[in-house]
Amino acid sequence: MSLVAIGIIGSSIAWYYANLAWTFGILFATALADLLLYTMVGSALMCYRCGAQYRGVAEMESHGEFNLETHEKYRQFAARAAETARAARATSSPSGSAGASP
Ligand SMILES: [Zn+2]
Repeated sequence: MSLVAIGIIGSSIAWYYANLAWTFGILFATALADLLLYTMVGSALMCYRCGAQYRGVAEMESHGEFNLETHEKYRQFAARAAETARAARATSSPSGSAGASP
């Protein structure tokens, strides 16, 4: 993902200097490197809850494919938990200025 970003930035610099060959050369080279990495690195097991990544784990296939819906569910759960914690801190703090101002 970041490799693609490097490719875009690199090709933009080449574009700025009006070098068309370098512009597309950098873009294709980084895209190819990204594809190679994708095929070589293989699959990883990632925890929906904490984002921990595991590689080379036995019975990896039994966990199934990545599910965006499940990922979103946990992401929203974490966001809600953070919001609840923030609200709890706001109400418990002694900053409530009742009757302090005229
Ligand atoms: Zn976890």
